[in-house]
Amino acid sequence: MSELSFKDKVVVITGAGGGLGKHYSLEYAKRGAKVVVNDLGGSLGGQGGDAKAADIVVNEIRAAGGIAVADYNNVLDGAKIIETAVKNFGTVHIVINNAGILRDASFKKITDKEFQLVLDVHLNGAFQVTKAAWPYFRKQEYGRIINTSSPAGLYGNFGQSNYSSAKSALIGFAETLAKEGEKYNIKANVIAPLAKSRMTETILPPPVLEKLSPQKVAPLVLYLTHDSNEVSGQIFEVAAGFYAQIRWERSGGVLFRPDETFTAEAVAKRFDEILNFDDSAKPELLKNQHPFMLNSYGELISAA
Ligand code: NAD
Repeated sequence: MSELSFKDKVVVITGAGGGLGKHYSLEYAKRGAKVVVNDLGGSLGGQGGDAKAADIVVNEIRAAGGIAVADYNNVLDGAKIIETAVKNFGTVHIVINNAGILRDASFKKITDKEFQLVLDVHLNGAFQVTKAAWPYFRKQEYGRIINTSSPAGLYGNFGQSNYSSAKSALIGFAETLAKEGEKYNIKANVIAPLAKSRMTETILPPPVLEKLSPQKVAPLVLYLTHDSNEVSGQIFEVAAGFYAQIRWERSGGVLFRPDETFTAEAVAKRFDEILNFDDSAKPELLKNQHPFMLNSYGELISAA
């Protein structure tokens, strides 16, 4: 198979001054892309800022003969980040929503500020950047988006009600973008990675971290954003070189008669059946939300 080239593609990678984003940047640049390395260079908790983080990555790319420019804006100023791409390279083809912070706290202790801040950076940041890129994507009928979720967004995690909420929201966001973007050749996918970075360094034991280099995540991100990939609106779990797709599964379910027998007691009696996945389906569209209830958008079929 020939090399997957990104020649002349303009890629915006948020939070690319370290961790996963840095490796994506290096890899895209190696393959000919023009890279906007965005990072405000703050702490893991989102405090402060330092232009050095993005500069170091840009210098490394340029020293290797690649093309890159640094951007120090907060993802909440997404329009400014896209402006950097347009001013320097004329447009944007690929957006990797990767910037993130942590403010872990048990739900009992979490403050309004800790909850909001994490939602802002991950979800609203991705919204602002993608929203600013969208008109370019539509006009040129080409766009690729990666939203970075997390296993915590898929399954929840102790002490991360803020983070897991934001990370699940990024899934619904990408699923909708994939549908709205389809006719403009805009594809949006989601990754739920696990990798060694300052986010995991203090949580995971060294022997596990050793296996989790960020370089092992980059190949999926590159493939999903390459011209040759047709897949959109999908979720991928990726860690230590293991790549797999995640999807929704609906149990065979129970259809209750809408009469006086349809009570909480009836639900209790058949709850095991609701939980039974023997005859499951894997829905992808709102319109096939439930075969018994909807035959097209909003057209209810009598369940009696
Ligand atoms: P990281 O802390 O090394 O990288 C995140 C980067 O985002 C930092 O360089 C930081 O300065 C930047 N950033 C933070 N807030 C920003 C803002 N408002 N505007 C611009 N830049 C900002 O951590 P990482 O592990 O490389 O994380 C990358 C992404 O992957 C994050 O979204 C994270 O939640 C996600 N993720 C990582 C793991 C993992 O195991 N490392 C697991 C699941 C999800």
